[in-house]
Amino acid sequence: MMGAPDRYAVIGHPVAHSKSPHIHAAFAAQTGQNLTYERLLAPLNGFVATVMGFIEQGGKGLNVTLPFKLEAHALADMLTERACAAGAVNTLNIVNGLILGDNTDGVGLVVDIECNAGLPLRGKKVLLLGAGGAARGAVLPLLQAGPATLTIANRTSAKADALAREFAASANVPANICACDFSALRGRFDLVINATSASLGGELPPILPELFGSATLAYDMMYGKEPTVFMRFAARHDAATRDGLGMLVEQAAESFLLWRGVRPDTAPVYAELRASMD
Ligand code: NDP
Repeated sequence: MMGAPDRYAVIGHPVAHSKSPHIHAAFAAQTGQNLTYERLLAPLNGFVATVMGFIEQGGKGLNVTLPFKLEAHALADMLTERACAAGAVNTLNIVNGLILGDNTDGVGLVVDIECNAGLPLRGKKVLLLGAGGAARGAVLPLLQAGPATLTIANRTSAKADALAREFAASANVPANICACDFSALRGRFDLVINATSASLGGELPPILPELFGSATLAYDMMYGKEPTVFMRFAARHDAATRDGLGMLVEQAAESFLLWRGVRPDTAPVYAELRASMD
């Protein structure tokens, strides 16, 4: 007979829009894992108290969404290498009373690009647009995939410079990493990732068509029913395009793997979510 289910949740403010409960319920059904997964709305000044209350009630793990990823980083007793590099935590795993912090966003992005979009990153020219939280979380997993070059461009170029310098100095990731502002970007890339939040406002970062060609994948971390402005611009210049829905599902699968020791098959969950957006 099965015991009481283990309890998981996504914590955020707001959190009602989160697709994570649906995704993790589908993963649990598929893998036969005995768990529940709910939404936890934390007050803006009550993240730590809400997490502690959840743990006291026997909670086993949390996904953390905006605006609490930095607070989760500060709260964790131990951090994975990629959470350290990201400076932010999207997954908490409670083990023997200790809070372990991980960040699965960047690895979710890389898995989606390499496995689902079919673009191996080794030896490729990669351009990362943006230097905010999502871009920072992507840098280490991108470098670990072995691209020939990783260029970071940002509206505030000093932030891109700082990010590139920080990772170039990291001894265990040999890579050709550089930074520039949008106006200095030249030449074609194999992969252009839009990690800016420009798409949220229906805006296009100031980029030139010459970045794209028929062998380019243009990837927008944002997702939605319709292609973003960035995806439409890239498609007009012959690039293949993909939005961030796959990243969302893959980061969830990495969290599930961390918690449960089994990685679910993401394809049917992705297909169902995509269909539900139509
Ligand atoms: P942040 O607020 O941390 O960073 C925003 C970034 O966008 C900064 O680099 C900022 O530049 C840049 N930016 C904002 N507006 C413009 C503009 N009009 N033109 C050019 N650059 C602009 O946001 P996040 O990093 O948290 O999120 C970025 C995107 O990633 C969002 O669309 C978010 O939805 C998506 N995301 C998707 C995930 C998924 O699972 N698919 C997971 C996490 C994020 P500056 O420094 O100059 O202000």
